[in-house]
Amino acid sequence: VPLELSELVEDVYKKLKLTATKHTVELLRNEEGYIMGDKVIMKELIRIFLENGIKYTPEGGTITIDSHGMPHYMCLEIADNGIGIAPEDREKIFQRFYRVDSSRTKAAGQPGGTGLGLSIAKWIADNHDIGISLDSELGKGTKFILMIPLIEEEK
Ligand code: ATP
Repeated sequence: VPLELSELVEDVYKKLKLTATKHTVELLRNEEGYIMGDKVIMKELIRIFLENGIKYTPEGGTITIDSHGMPHYMCLEIADNGIGIAPEDREKIFQRFYRVDSSRTKAAGQPGGTGLGLSIAKWIADNHDIGISLDSELGKGTKFILMIPLIEEEK
């Protein structure tokens, strides 16, 4: 089913903004584009990155969502100014049950998780030809970049 991406982004953003009382969640650009997929699954994909942003960013931090359309792709960026991810962990975080050194995770004052979120995100992305890359610096923050294939707009 063709889905309009900016509507999904807006939905997830609005819900998260209500629950994330200790962080600023900002929606910068939210460009329109049609994608192929299941609404619930695509929203789940976006939600995983946003919730991680909140989880691994100390109180008072900011999580931003930004998107820009390119030929055939929407580039969706979810960034935080939280604890960051060390270079040696960047491949491993997508594995099932992998979590970065608990001491660092605790430093953000956050409860634990199962280490499944990103492996689910990766699975969803692989099934939709969505590319995931990340840019991160320890102590500064993390940006996940999703390259989402666009389909021809419905006429
Ligand atoms: P859950 O499955 O409950 O979400 P989780 O957050 O531990 O638990 P993943 O979402 O798979 O699991 O993330 C794996 C690990 O990657 C996390 O434990 C954390 O160490 C690291 N991580 C993920 N997102 C971020 C982020 N935005 N900033 C810093 N570290 C992150």
